[in-house]
Amino acid sequence: MNAENVAASERLVDAAYVRQGWQGRRAHELRLRTLLEQGKCPEEGWDESTIELLLHELAIMDSNNFLGNCGVGEREGRVASQLVARRHYRLIHGIGRSGDISAVQPKAAGSSLLNKLTNSLVLDIIRLAGVRTASSCFVVPMATGMSLTLCFLTLRHKRPQAKYILWPRIDQKSCFKSMITAGFEPVVIENTLEGDELRTDLKAVETQIQDLGADNILCVHSTTSCFAPRVPDRLEELAEICAKHDIPHVVNNAYGVQSSKCMHLIQQGARRGRIDAFVQSLDKNFMVPVGGAVIAGFSDSFVQEISKMYPGRASASPSLDVLITLLSLGTKGYQQLLKERKEMFYYLSSELKKLAEAYNERLMETPHNPISLAMSLRKLDEQSGTAVTQLGSMLFTRQVSGARVVPLSSLQTLSGYTFKGFMSHTNSYHCAYLNAASAIGMSQQDADVFLKRLDKCLKTLAKGKNDDKNTPIANEEIVSETEKCSTKAAEGNAKY
Ligand SMILES: *Cc1c(COP(=O)(O)O)cnc(C)c1O
Repeated sequence: MNAENVAASERLVDAAYVRQGWQGRRAHELRLRTLLEQGKCPEEGWDESTIELLLHELAIMDSNNFLGNCGVGEREGRVASQLVARRHYRLIHGIGRSGDISAVQPKAAGSSLLNKLTNSLVLDIIRLAGVRTASSCFVVPMATGMSLTLCFLTLRHKRPQAKYILWPRIDQKSCFKSMITAGFEPVVIENTLEGDELRTDLKAVETQIQDLGADNILCVHSTTSCFAPRVPDRLEELAEICAKHDIPHVVNNAYGVQSSKCMHLIQQGARRGRIDAFVQSLDKNFMVPVGGAVIAGFSDSFVQEISKMYPGRASASPSLDVLITLLSLGTKGYQQLLKERKEMFYYLSSELKKLAEAYNERLMETPHNPISLAMSLRKLDEQSGTAVTQLGSMLFTRQVSGARVVPLSSLQTLSGYTFKGFMSHTNSYHCAYLNAASAIGMSQQDADVFLKRLDKCLKTLAKGKNDDKNTPIANEEIVSETEKCSTKAAEGNAKY
């Protein structure tokens, strides 16, 4: 509503009321203006009506929504289904231009604004979460693995001779495949065991650099967030080694934005040595659907080079989802989620420790891992060769998702590379174990229900039984457990 429209309205409705209404509207518009001027995530989350106002304003700036538009090209933002149009708030043109995912699209001023705003807000959050000197970032509509591939392909042009990537082992298929897909040869650096923890073998990294020659190495590909008992890589030391030998360094920070420790490691690495880019998943850190990642770095020109490697235009959906999410949460809401996650981590670790000890097992001591926990399954494994995998399937049947059972010595071949002890990040860990994580958005009810079901499964297995095959577990039983724990969680929450 502009001044002319307000004047016209005053002929229909009492001027005093119209002005009042206009004032009300201006408060929403003021938020939009602050957002456009500053490009920062608002401190307080917005209500849905302001967010929708922004999205409608952006959408009508795109040519597919012009009243007088006549498209005669092959990509004119036409959609057959109105349901699809609404699902995307009529932002149909996507982001980027054929040669650069960050470039402005002339047919779509609104979508281009959306893209710039989102990248700016996400950078604000990355800095707030601990990487204070990050200089730029962009959202890509590809998950983490493919986004890492894009980084490696960008480096290829700078180091045409290089064919190896030094990779401290982490048993997660997509980060391994990100190197293979980019056409490089991963050089697996086995981890060293320190107490229960698996940590980066810095000496082995140095040795490989001597043996292969720095110019033949594309980069070091390190990892922050990972399943215990592996812990985040020694980023500071790796970054120093990379700086010393002039080798690029790409960090897989898949779900690290939610942990101040992971973010601190990246900040320190960049301060003390060299980090060229760090990549994080959108869904794992920002509670949006799977499909996007953020590529960030400390040099504007390098980050821009990566965005220029992306061929063609791209989906705006991941950017739209994360923009809506950050505007709804505000920095306060996001920081609250981070705080609750950390509290839930301590809760889960102390409860899991008690449960483990009740079964003569123990919680592995992995103080450097801020998200994932591991509980030994030594006794269970000694009891029978199949008990550990049985536990995995029992948990699955009981609708426990995300818990991961790791038996000893499982052999796996990935793209021609054979990994001994696959899943455990090392050729032979000293016992079988179970992983559970406290990730952003986890509720106390999730933790309580998990602990209760794990307890039941362990009890059943301790009696030498596996009731899975005979008695399919009733849905009612699962639902009633969930309800009981939700009352308990409500009581527990009152304590915080
Ligand atoms: C999730 C994850 C990835 C990437 O998975 P995508 O499906 O490609 O997003 C890579 N490494 C680790 C450690 C992860 O947790």
